Amino acid sequence: MKTLVGGSSAPGASRERDEIRPQPVGRNEPCPCGSGSKYKKCCLLRERCETASLLPAWVINSSRKLHLFLKYATQVFGLPRLLGGLRDGRRDPTYSTFEVVNSLFHAALFRRPSINATEGDLKHEDFQKLIGRKPSQGVKAFSAEVISNVLDKLDLDGLRNGIEDVIWRAERNKVFRGGSYGALRCVALDGWEPSCSYDRHCSHCLTREVSVKNPTTGEVEKRTQYYHRYVVAMLVGPVLDVVLDIEPVLNAEARRDLGEDAHHEGELTAAHRLIDRLHDTYATFIDAFVLDALYANGPVMTKLDEYGYGGFIVLKKSDNEPLKDALALWEGKDPCQRIYDDEKKESVEFWDVDGIDTLDTYKGKVRVIRAVITKKNGTRKTWCFAIVGKRAQKASRRTAFKIVRSRWHIENTGFGQWVKYWNLGRVYRHTPNAIMAILLLWMLVFNLLQLFVYRRLKRPRKPKDPCDTIIGIVAEMFRDVATISDRIPWEVLAHAAMG
Ligand SMILES: [Zn+2]
Ligand SMILES: [Zn+2]
Repeated sequence: MKTLVGGSSAPGASRERDEIRPQPVGRNEPCPCGSGSKYKKCCLLRERCETASLLPAWVINSSRKLHLFLKYATQVFGLPRLLGGLRDGRRDPTYSTFEVVNSLFHAALFRRPSINATEGDLKHEDFQKLIGRKPSQGVKAFSAEVISNVLDKLDLDGLRNGIEDVIWRAERNKVFRGGSYGALRCVALDGWEPSCSYDRHCSHCLTREVSVKNPTTGEVEKRTQYYHRYVVAMLVGPVLDVVLDIEPVLNAEARRDLGEDAHHEGELTAAHRLIDRLHDTYATFIDAFVLDALYANGPVMTKLDEYGYGGFIVLKKSDNEPLKDALALWEGKDPCQRIYDDEKKESVEFWDVDGIDTLDTYKGKVRVIRAVITKKNGTRKTWCFAIVGKRAQKASRRTAFKIVRSRWHIENTGFGQWVKYWNLGRVYRHTPNAIMAILLLWMLVFNLLQLFVYRRLKRPRKPKDPCDTIIGIVAEMFRDVATISDRIPWEVLAHAAMG
């Protein structure tokens, strides 16, 4: 079956529609309403999600979690439009991008471990109805090969736009208002390496030589290990965390393709690229970055300054500036403030120094804070961090410390959960495009789920492990699939949403 919605991006496929419809406005172009804002932040968001009324009554009136989630994602975030807008580069495909991506969207929601598992789901009547197919028990809707082909050619910019649209809609619904630390909207950046392998690899794999013991001879030998590494940007907050973007650390081959020096780049290079793109996309929506010690260097601080961003950066090396200077100034001095945190049951002592300008590669002034925590059982832990940027430097010590500690969200709510519960430690499909497509699509689902659980269902984040809350809800949604009475008319919804 060939459909118009989400079909191939081959020029012929869309020409017919474009002739009847007015030329669409580019998302970054000025909005035609004359507001002066970009279209993506103006009327694109105002497009009402009327399509939600096309959802069947048994979805709209149900209080089951899965039904509530689909209604929420459609009504508030325009899910059919998000998925319907995606394109892939196959020629004359039998199955539309939309139906394949829609099945992957649900595979991500249920955290299916592999493409083969999803292929298995595609044989089940319940799942077929869920993704809008005519139910036919035992006959798979389409094969794993079709899914692989789509992933190999899926347009990644489209996926990034989808993630962005969700953020702007959430912003418009005031999701992030009050959900920040000291009125600063903070983004944590960190490197992430979901998996590695000695045999399976692709042309964009990073490589390193690892010493391993040969199980037969007992001798230590060098083996090449293949892996992918990313820099992830997560908006961290007290209520919920959402992923803004992901940038791969490029290997020599990928850089050669871009006409650059053919050697593996480091995390920092990818991070600089990501900060540039975040600034392009989100501009003043972001106030500050929260970074680990790798980022405690002049070039990163300079970049943040140039963009008007603050920075909260962990400091570890006591013989490096600016920490070296701060430690010398604090030598023999009592803390300038002591607080007791009732919630965490710990006391914190602060040392604080402003105006350090000893870095050769950064012209601005740095504030450095040391926090020594004493837990109820007497264990002590020391944190040192730098603050750059005027607005960020005005933060109280308590708020600044909260911000620095919120960086654990990216490790825990993000990386830890994605590998353990979202199966992202496995490689679904090992080609350069598919790897990124899976990550971005899964992040889109992750964000929608975060919004659903903490905003729509208003589940508290504390004191329970945030992962537990979500696991329970996903399990409930998976059970709800069996209760689906009829096929959900996704194609109709997508058609209506795309105009
Ligand atoms: Zn407008
Ligand atoms: Zn690879």
